[in-house]
Amino acid sequence: MSTEVSRLYVLLCGYEILEKTVSTRDRGGRFILAEPVSAYLLETTRGHVLVDTGLNSAIVHDPALREERYTKQGIRPPVILPEHELACQLAAIGVRPEDVGHVILTHMHLDHAGNLKMFRHARISVQRREHEHAFSPGHGPAWFDCDYDLPGLRWDLVEGDWEALPGLEVLLTRGHTPGHQSVVVALRDTGTVVLVGDAGDLAENFAEEILPGESVDDAAALASIRRLKQIARERRGALLLGHDPELIQELRLAPACYT
Ligand SMILES: [Zn+2]
Repeated sequence: MSTEVSRLYVLLCGYEILEKTVSTRDRGGRFILAEPVSAYLLETTRGHVLVDTGLNSAIVHDPALREERYTKQGIRPPVILPEHELACQLAAIGVRPEDVGHVILTHMHLDHAGNLKMFRHARISVQRREHEHAFSPGHGPAWFDCDYDLPGLRWDLVEGDWEALPGLEVLLTRGHTPGHQSVVVALRDTGTVVLVGDAGDLAENFAEEILPGESVDDAAALASIRRLKQIARERRGALLLGHDPELIQELRLAPACYT
C-alpha cells in the first residue's frame, strides 16, 4: 500500500469523569466512567502531524477557571497528571511542539482543542462548519472558546472528505458536532487504522450502533458510525477509539508506536 505515514503514536492526555450516557445515548445512566482522552502523533514524510491536542490543564488546575468552566457548567473536572501533559508526551518521543507543522482537529470540544496555544506556528485543519459553530454564540459548555479563540492561529478550513497526504485521509463524520471528522491512517505493518474521534466513544457505540450522548444530527451521527465500521471492514482495519477505557489498556501507548 502507498503511504507516507511511517509511525503512529497514541498519546494518553488524561481522563474525563462522566456519566456513561454522555457516550451512549440513554444507556448506563447509573454509571460514571473514567474515559481516557487521546491524541495521536503521526510521523510522515512531510513532518509530524498531530491529530487532536487533548485538554488544557491550566483550566483544571486554576481554582477560579475550574469553577467557571467545569463545576458551574455541571461538568466534572478531568484528571490530568503531569505525565498526561501533551508537551510531556511529545518530549518522551523526542518531539518538540515546534516540530509539529500540522494539526488536524477531529472537532473542537474542550478535550480535543485544549492545547492549540502550543501550535501557533502550525497549520490547523478543521471543517469549516465546525469552526463556524465554535465561533458562534450559544454553542454550549463543551466548547472552550478561551482555548481556540486565540490570535495568530493558522486555521485551514476544509469541507467534506480530504486527503492530507497519501496514507492519511480525513473523512467528514458529522453528527456528534456540526463538522466532526475522522482520520484514516495507512501503516505498512499494522495496516489501516481509523482514528474515529468522537463519532463513537466506546466499542459499544460501534458494535451496537448506539448514538453518542450528544449530537446535532442523529441521522448523520448514525451514518457516520456505519461509515467508519464499513471502512474498517473493507480494509480489514482497526477502529481506534479515543475514549474507550478498556481499549486504551490494550493499545501501545507513546513512546511506543505502531508502524
Ligand atoms: Zn472527546
